[in-house]
Amino acid sequence: MSTRNMSPVKVDMPSQEPLIRAKNFKEVTHGYTEEMALEEAARCLQCKHKPCIQGCPVNVQIPDFIRLILERDYQAANEKILETNVLPAVCGRVCPQENQCEKYCVRGIKGESVAIGRLERFVADYVRDNTELKPEKYKMNGNKVAVVGSGPAGLSCAGDLARMGYEVTMYESLPEGGGVLVYGIPEFRLPNHIVRHEVRQLRAKGVVLERNMVVGRSITIDELFDKHGFEAVFVGSGAGLPVFLGIPGENAVGVYSANEYLTRSNLMRAYDSRYDTPIRHSKNVAVVGGGNVAMDSARTALRLGGENVHIVYRRSFDEMPARSEEVHHAQEEGVIFENLTNPIAVKMGQQGEVIGLTCIRMELGEPDDSGRRRPVPVPGSEFDIDVDTVVIAVGTNPNPLIKSTTKGLEVTDWGGIVTDESGATSRPGIFAGGDAVTGAATVISAAGAGKVAAAAIDKYIQEKNA
Ligand code: FAD
Ligand code: SF4
Ligand code: SF4
Repeated sequence: MSTRNMSPVKVDMPSQEPLIRAKNFKEVTHGYTEEMALEEAARCLQCKHKPCIQGCPVNVQIPDFIRLILERDYQAANEKILETNVLPAVCGRVCPQENQCEKYCVRGIKGESVAIGRLERFVADYVRDNTELKPEKYKMNGNKVAVVGSGPAGLSCAGDLARMGYEVTMYESLPEGGGVLVYGIPEFRLPNHIVRHEVRQLRAKGVVLERNMVVGRSITIDELFDKHGFEAVFVGSGAGLPVFLGIPGENAVGVYSANEYLTRSNLMRAYDSRYDTPIRHSKNVAVVGGGNVAMDSARTALRLGGENVHIVYRRSFDEMPARSEEVHHAQEEGVIFENLTNPIAVKMGQQGEVIGLTCIRMELGEPDDSGRRRPVPVPGSEFDIDVDTVVIAVGTNPNPLIKSTTKGLEVTDWGGIVTDESGATSRPGIFAGGDAVTGAATVISAAGAGKVAAAAIDKYIQEKNA
């Protein structure tokens, strides 16, 4: 094993220069080389109590996989991660590690934590790029389960059930599998080929993917049970229904929900100059919101030709929900932050098109129910931002279609499917997990919920058939 590396800082990860990358859709960061990964892995102290693991929602066995990197057994390191996380190449890139595994790393006390996410990404990329993977079809046990949605929740539930021998069919409303991983998170953060690889692997192992199938419209959950012989259904349909601001002018031509804007860019390939995707290539754009989705929209706007791209956010940097790395990357690329600012109207031209966004400055008052200080308008501080495209990225809720077409499914007042800890819903045989249950959250929490539900579905079917 190599000597321990006591450097207080992480091995740097190479990335494209900010002003170059802001004009292309190629991945921003290049990932570690083998030498870099070995150097970073040597920073891990192999702590006996493994505090980092408690920060990972699916308990990846972090010190074990890092030790296997040091032994240069990357295949074994990959298998170790896959025991609990089906999407290491994805999570290594997009997990908010600073609030999860890396937050608990003891190396973070006197310096920077071990770069667990970068190492996870290295292992997954290395094995994908250097091994000829020939997945074998799992043996089927004759029991059928349907999975609604092919995002991280659906993929992980389907993967685990297929490994247990179930015949799994995933129903996906879009033309491609992967959920937000393909239509939401942009190419420059998570290249589509990585997600496609994961979906292909699953299909090669025997999971069937039915695309362009909207459950609730093309087929109902009752039909899945009664006509198609499924014994259980997992609903991982996400939270794709955009929330709007309810301000005047929001229906102007040139106002997009972030969901639509990013889908046009990612799934309809506006990022690829060979495709003639209907999307505005505006120089002056305002994105409303302060989460990852807002950062992704603003950085996409830059890459589509934006010169003055503004983030309009009603609180300050301290309260911003986006990952700090994404905020930092957006700043480096030239996004203009209008913090403590709230939009009050979209200005419309004679043809109903956007000609500006009227905003008001805010200041932080007393804490609200969430514990964060409530933003309050500063009287007389109204001003206009000169833009012709506005992207609204202030949140999403689950789509009510499944609830409205499935009897006996209890949902919350904002549309989240109610489940117990195992993912079981109010209706026997129907399980749910991911954003459809929690509202917009994270890739790894959705994947974790899919895994928990797979175990519960197995138990349910075993008991039913006993
Ligand atoms: P989804 O990924 O939404 O997948 C649900 C799937 O179900 C979709 O493919 C949808 O088309 C399909 N579907 C919906 N209804 C039906 C139906 N009736 N019939 C059939 N199919 C249906 N998380 C992170 O951890 N890190 C990040 O950096 C990050 N960045 C993000 C950036 C953006 C722009 C967005 C939108 C989200 C981001 N997230 C991030 C959040 C993360 O992507 C989600 O929490 C996660 O994808 C949720 O997984 P899911 O499987 O529950 O749902
Ligand atoms: Fe960290 Fe995410 Fe990997 Fe867990 S899955 S170890 S939280 S990067
Ligand atoms: Fe390694 Fe940090 Fe985990 Fe300790 S806490 S085992 S140093 S990754």
